[in-house]
Amino acid sequence: MAVDAEHLIVGAGCAGLSLAVRLASRPFRERGRIRVVDPRTEFGADRTWCAFRGAAHPFEDAVTHAWSRYQIHAPHVIERASERPYEHIASERFYGVALAALERAEGVELDLGVSVQALEDRGGFVEATTSAGPLRANVAWDGRGGAPAARGGPDDVAWWQHFVGWVVKTERPIFEPNVATLMDFRVSQRLGPHFVYVLPYARDEALVEDTYFSDTPLEPSRYEEAIRAWLDAHRAGEFTCLRTERGAIPMSTAVLGPRRDARIVPIGLRGGAAKPSTGYAFAFIQRHCEALARLAGDGSRPVPETPAHDPVSTAFDRVFLSFLRRHPERAPEVFGALFERTPPASLVRFLGEEGGVRDHLRVMNGVPRGPVFGEVLRAHRLWLRSR
Ligand SMILES: Cc1cc2nc3c(=O)[nH]c(=O)nc-3n(C[C@H](O)[C@H](O)[C@H](O)COP(=O)(O)OP(=O)(O)OC[C@H]3O[C@@H](n4cnc5c(N)ncnc54)[C@H](O)[C@@H]3O)c2cc1C
Repeated sequence: MAVDAEHLIVGAGCAGLSLAVRLASRPFRERGRIRVVDPRTEFGADRTWCAFRGAAHPFEDAVTHAWSRYQIHAPHVIERASERPYEHIASERFYGVALAALERAEGVELDLGVSVQALEDRGGFVEATTSAGPLRANVAWDGRGGAPAARGGPDDVAWWQHFVGWVVKTERPIFEPNVATLMDFRVSQRLGPHFVYVLPYARDEALVEDTYFSDTPLEPSRYEEAIRAWLDAHRAGEFTCLRTERGAIPMSTAVLGPRRDARIVPIGLRGGAAKPSTGYAFAFIQRHCEALARLAGDGSRPVPETPAHDPVSTAFDRVFLSFLRRHPERAPEVFGALFERTPPASLVRFLGEEGGVRDHLRVMNGVPRGPVFGEVLRAHRLWLRSR
């Protein structure tokens, strides 16, 4: 069966473009034609991606800020220096780097303003129904965002990290430009773990984001009130909102089962890339796309199952999240203990799922042990009962 492209990438977002750039960097004769389809027609400053610096990736030119120190307020302040800075990847630059690389590569076509309505694995190829007609490819990489269709066990947690962020310019210079505030828990914990995230770009400019872990997103006004209250409490004075962002990221410990369709491969949030306990996804998307691009060839042979997270880290996340889910009011205490007692290098490796046994033990030492071991026993009992 003749195909329109060897690779069909559905969605030109973080994962779709991360994979496209890596595939496009391979010789054309090895990987064949790449077609990227997305209903959007514009790429702009629509989100702030941050991650601790990790393995090299093709978007290093998109890093616009790096903080060497980070802090959390739980509620007392814990401040640490990190050898690996916390980096901000500006989405408009990320898109610029990706689109320029795709433009230069041979055999890459970008169909913007086109949405994919259905994907069918027909055995030797995939057929996509799109708003511009049918498309056939050896393999479809499904990066349409949203949540993964994962199967959960009795001890799995499916939560959301939801937030609204404002980039503000303030009348008074209230920010410390070298220090990123990852979590400021000095806000109401009534609706679940709730904190303010602050990325200062200058003494009078920062992203201030109001964030919750819970079952459902809230009305925008709820987050906005909290941002205003935080700015007031910090005596920011008058301020101008330069940009807003909003998001809901799945925090699910349910693992993706084997693919239903061998030739349709979910990537990005759909592929379970968001780390369950933190909602961070950018670094995992880079690592996952790197691994998939290495296995992809020209898509004629289905790629093997390639999970975005390692099972040991997911087991830790399951214990941690299920404890928080049952005791949301203890989030400040648990995160506080974790940041206070774990050496920064171990914590950063652990959060990035690069840690070894030693890092895992240091983290275990950092969290309140009684409740966590209680949670492990509870999970074990649930697992035994479900068998
Ligand atoms: C505001 C915001 C801030 C975030 N900040 C961070 C952060 O600091 N650090 C971090 O690690 N993670 C962060 N995340 C989480 C995660 O990294 C991002 O959501 C990331 O963009 C997910 O990548 P993705 O490719 O799965 O989805 P997206 O980047 O959302 O891309 C999905 C693409 O699919 C397209 N699409 C949708 N429907 C169709 C269709 N029918 N046919 C074809 N295409 C379709 C969309 O137009 C879009 O371009 C943030 C998320 C948001 C929303």
